[in-house]
Amino acid sequence: MHLEIDIAIRRQLGDILPDDVALGVGDGWLGLVGRALLEIRIAAHGRPIKVTQVGQKRGSLLIHTDALAQRVPMAVADAIDEIRFNASDRSATTCERCGSLGFLIRGDEPRVRCGRCEATEVARQAIRQEYREHIEECCQYYIGVCIKTGKLLPVENVIVRVAPTTDEEHRILLDEVHERLVWWRAGSWIEGIDEALREPFRKLEFVRTQATADEWSAVRKLYPEDFVQADRHQALVENQRTRRATEIRSAALAYVRECAHKHAVLDIETFGQRRWRQDGVVKRRIMIDALSDDIRSGIPVVDVWRRFEVSGRIARRLVGAQDYTALYDILDRNGMDPSFMPRDVAAWVREGKMTAEDGMDILGIEHAAEFEDLVARWLAGED
Ligand SMILES: [Zn+2]
Repeated sequence: MHLEIDIAIRRQLGDILPDDVALGVGDGWLGLVGRALLEIRIAAHGRPIKVTQVGQKRGSLLIHTDALAQRVPMAVADAIDEIRFNASDRSATTCERCGSLGFLIRGDEPRVRCGRCEATEVARQAIRQEYREHIEECCQYYIGVCIKTGKLLPVENVIVRVAPTTDEEHRILLDEVHERLVWWRAGSWIEGIDEALREPFRKLEFVRTQATADEWSAVRKLYPEDFVQADRHQALVENQRTRRATEIRSAALAYVRECAHKHAVLDIETFGQRRWRQDGVVKRRIMIDALSDDIRSGIPVVDVWRRFEVSGRIARRLVGAQDYTALYDILDRNGMDPSFMPRDVAAWVREGKMTAEDGMDILGIEHAAEFEDLVARWLAGED
């Protein structure tokens, strides 16, 4: 099991899945395991039941709990057994590596695989043997780096490729590293790794604002019902943003002008709540988010700015720009023509067509010395 997925399941099911119980199966059984554990938690009805083993035996999924030791009522024990057996039955036809339709492969190590995954099995065995020490060193290195940085890092970013391996071999090698890490985290032993590191390692988290594609698909498999609603919501968001694009843009222009009028960056939420008070809560939220995104893109801001309708100072603050060059960058990136350049402003001020205060205001320059410098530079350039 990949480390990210292992951690994602533990975040959801930590109350019944102790850290020292490994999820000793392939990623393909993630859905089966996740669902079974969720159902066991529900069947336990708040009793402190723990999972004691998740593994593979003779090709089928094996889940054990301490339900009997906890002396739960017979009905609860029966319900839990049914969940376990059901998951085990389904594992018999589910490829343990990828989750597609699989078949039992008999032999020394019975396993359920689809044709495609079984085809890599020989290569996998070879890598596991040939690179055994290297895999352990990778685990040691990875654990050290994570503990030093205080967070879990993507395994593939930390483990560099050994020169002679092909892409496919490297991928298999990474899989093996993931698997060993997951087992080590749960309590198995790896040569050369200090056992005292395990507790601090268990406390580490992947630090990311966005879930990876792997995590998303893991969560999708665990909670398909949640996604029905999420998908429907996403469709509504796209629909509103497309169908009401003109309305969103004109609201953005109005918002920038109101900021200009009040000489301040106004609260976009308040503005949006007022603007779309006729809409229901959900649609209003979608519109306000779309408005915020449009403002952040900078396009409506520089559009109002180039018409002299908002000061450079406010425009800069609306898009989070350091100085006026960033405003010109936005115009440039979006193929919009500027109606004035800094040299024009310098010339107008010199010719008395514009006051220095207005010149500073439109370019968003805060210090007089800086502005004088700019005027001097442009005049020198002209002379
Ligand atoms: Zn497969």
